[in-house]
Amino acid sequence: MQGSPTSNGSTSNASTSASSTVSTSSAAISENTTPSTNAAVGTANPTLSTSTDESIARSHRSALRSIARVVSETTTPTPPDKALADIAAMLADAPALVLTGAGVSTDSGIPDYRGPRGSLSRHRPMTYQEFRYDPAASHRYWARSFVGWRIMDRARPNRTHFAIAELERAGYVRGVVTQNVDGLHAQAGTENVVPLHGDLATVMCLNCGYREDREHFDARLAAANPGFLQRARVDEDSVNPDGDVDLSEALVAEFTMVGCERCGSPMLKPDVVYFGEPVPRQRKEAAAKLLEESGSLLVAGSSLAVMSGYKFVIDAQRAGKPVAVINGGPGRADARVQTLWRTPVAPAFDALLDELEL
Ligand SMILES: [Zn+2]
Repeated sequence: MQGSPTSNGSTSNASTSASSTVSTSSAAISENTTPSTNAAVGTANPTLSTSTDESIARSHRSALRSIARVVSETTTPTPPDKALADIAAMLADAPALVLTGAGVSTDSGIPDYRGPRGSLSRHRPMTYQEFRYDPAASHRYWARSFVGWRIMDRARPNRTHFAIAELERAGYVRGVVTQNVDGLHAQAGTENVVPLHGDLATVMCLNCGYREDREHFDARLAAANPGFLQRARVDEDSVNPDGDVDLSEALVAEFTMVGCERCGSPMLKPDVVYFGEPVPRQRKEAAAKLLEESGSLLVAGSSLAVMSGYKFVIDAQRAGKPVAVINGGPGRADARVQTLWRTPVAPAFDALLDELEL
């Protein structure tokens, strides 16, 4: 799932066991499949709201605010010709760090959150607190993800991923920090990529730390759930950026979860950062190092609505590095960047390759 931490998404209490204090009633969870985006997104999970562990409830509410953040128009974009010339000059001056979001993967068939057809209009991502402290929620996640995984697994890099890999080979890009969890930058051949929010292709055990390859885990789920995929039969368009799909409660109830291969614990989680969960330190440091080694920051396909992405703009500007944005819609950093190119992402990268004669 495409999870993203909130600005203060501390879950330092994550190791404490609160599950005994939290009701496991699935009826208590608000499942938002209604089309009213923000009202639905803002709905609190009553189970967590009444949790006796106030810090868990607070992190959950903070994650909900981050999910619900609406990014609106704040400034006038740079004229397209000037934007292209400015960004080409910026890359020619020194290798840039490219920060990517869901907008670079929409052409691979993976929806974004906040675009016009964004998945937030019909689905609120689960927060870390729901996943971790409500067994019914994690069971539902895995049932849905089991179905959604084969759609995610079929996604292939598109021309934006390949263009960025080519810019890296030619020395115009130092590396990529991505908020996406689809693994497509690496598949396209980008050498230096930091998946800030993790990768759906790995499953981790929250009890013992064992990491399992998703393909292998998927085969175990398939063996435990004969016929489930045939019964689920979902529309490819209904997949969410976090790699799950909407399933009926009846089907979710039929799903059999498997345990950790090493310790047997049912507390397995995709190795991705959920809303309400901090980015692991190692990845934060690797990303910061890439920014340090870069002459500028180029944001592509992200509204920077969540702090973990927006922070790169702040850090780059503090270090005196120019920042440019290529995005199809408004973004949180628009008013503070040097160049703002409002355009579909793929044609913009085509034009950049031409401009740089690649
Ligand atoms: Zn384990």
